[in-house]
Amino acid sequence: MQFAAFADRAAELEAEPADLETVSLVADLLCEAGADELPVVARFLQGRVFPGWDGRTLDVGPRLCYEALAKAAGTNVTADDVEARLADEGEIGAVAAGLDLGGQQGLGAFAAGGGESDGPTLTEVDDALREVAAAEGSGSEDAKLATLFGLFSRVSDDEARYLARLVLGEMRLGVGEGAVRDAIGEAFEVEPELVADALQVSNDYGRVAEIARESGDDGLREVGLTVGRPVQSMLAQAGTVTGALESWEEVAAEIKFDGARVQLHHHPDGIAPPAADREPTPDDPTVRLYSRNTSEVTEALPEIREFAEERLDAPAILDGEVVAVADDGSPLPFQEVLRRFRRKHEVDRMREEVALDLHTFDCLLDGREGSDGDDLLEEPFRERHARLTELLPEAASEVLYSGDAAEVEAFEQAALEAGHEGIMLKCLKSTYTPGDRGQDWLKRKPDVETLDCVVTGAEWGEGRRANEFGTFLLAVGSDHGYETVGKVATGITDERLAELTELLEPHVIDEDGQTVEFRPEVVFEVGYEEIQQSPTYGAGYALRFPRFVEVRDDKDPEDADTVERFERLAEGVDDA
Ligand code: AMP
Repeated sequence: MQFAAFADRAAELEAEPADLETVSLVADLLCEAGADELPVVARFLQGRVFPGWDGRTLDVGPRLCYEALAKAAGTNVTADDVEARLADEGEIGAVAAGLDLGGQQGLGAFAAGGGESDGPTLTEVDDALREVAAAEGSGSEDAKLATLFGLFSRVSDDEARYLARLVLGEMRLGVGEGAVRDAIGEAFEVEPELVADALQVSNDYGRVAEIARESGDDGLREVGLTVGRPVQSMLAQAGTVTGALESWEEVAAEIKFDGARVQLHHHPDGIAPPAADREPTPDDPTVRLYSRNTSEVTEALPEIREFAEERLDAPAILDGEVVAVADDGSPLPFQEVLRRFRRKHEVDRMREEVALDLHTFDCLLDGREGSDGDDLLEEPFRERHARLTELLPEAASEVLYSGDAAEVEAFEQAALEAGHEGIMLKCLKSTYTPGDRGQDWLKRKPDVETLDCVVTGAEWGEGRRANEFGTFLLAVGSDHGYETVGKVATGITDERLAELTELLEPHVIDEDGQTVEFRPEVVFEVGYEEIQQSPTYGAGYALRFPRFVEVRDDKDPEDADTVERFERLAEGVDDA
């Protein structure tokens, strides 16, 4: 197939707003594609040269593309001109189509090493772009420029439009993943659901299209996870403890680690690099690490690789988070991980500076001998986590399985006190759905809003904190003074605790063992998850999951929230 034929179809697709028509047009194009062309067509339609699991990119910045276009357009055009036109036209395809690149055809054919004056075939474009991606090291910019120039010099205006977009990853034909999925179903008469499943585990439209054509439904059923081919990470939505317990009765609660996502692949026989297109050899690394968007990050994280190499024997794919840690093992902010994560240079020096820890929380593939089926995506969370704990006990997340909100709350408090970001709540029965931001994983929702409460009491801390307050009693205004609504101990750093003690101690009016009473003077801003009716507190309502946010020294106790407001919030009729 000529690239020109692909460009014609791309233009038709772009002009077609109706989804159904789009699917038939894509299906026709897939049917027309020759043996080796099918995967290329499926990828190009989505503006990709490589499958989703393959971390390679063309590594062509806009400026290099402008230079290649300018060169192909002739001596009168510069990269600056291309950039200026882009500012007018707004998109690179229109600019490329207006440059009359075909005028240089003879020269381009020469530069591309061919003698033909026809435009390139689809396969030639694919090969050339792979060559562009492969150019590395010194001189690579020149090599990329030469190859792109060769390509651009051989194309007509219409071809130039789609080639330039492809090079810059801006294809935008309006052909979504769903349309390609449905088109594969229509073109090769296979079950769309099987196509969807195969796409989820393989992360490769080209391969799935080929399998659908060659081996139909049966072939698609066979598609499984492969070590060395990362899948999209499963994602989380915001949720609440109460909501999760209502839906599932029991939750799996885990620490939410504030780091960078990694997918860890291990194979004792080695994992070949994606570009190699060959079987692995014993010289290939046995561990490779991938980021959340499936690019490879192994080189940047040598200690994680070494740790996994030492501990794992069988093939495995694990999901987790890499966290930067202080000398005492406590977690450091997310920004610290970023100093390590995609680093290509000075990895060893940074390894000394920022220590990393691996926390794994899921197991997608367990290839141990005797393990019943490698691919665990369809297994429930509880089973996957049990496998994870067997495979890598040192790095497996701690899970609290609980149906009790207070127990989950205590777990969260402990997580926050240990310096973590919060907790995740997972449905015990849920399968692993790559790329999906579904309802099965919830990150505990940050407090929707805050309330201002008066601090009317406190409890002294224990042990080394015996001279500081630990828990503060909160109250809100009513017709007859202040009524309590809960206690807050969460969200306060050690340093802050000392300051709060100093601030509140002068207001103590009574003391009874561990507890003190304050004159109502100080107002705390607190976050919370929910307000519930409660016989425990004077107001008849209690804050669930209260957290300290700030001292409102700009507010007097009279300005604090009231029982009446709590009533309205609890009923869901507050519009303040
Ligand atoms: P967010 O990035 O705020 O949408 O939160 C979801 C992210 O939290 C995930 O993509 C993971 O990278 C990260 N995360 C941290 N700890 C966990 C955990 N225990 N389970 C799942 N994801 C986690």
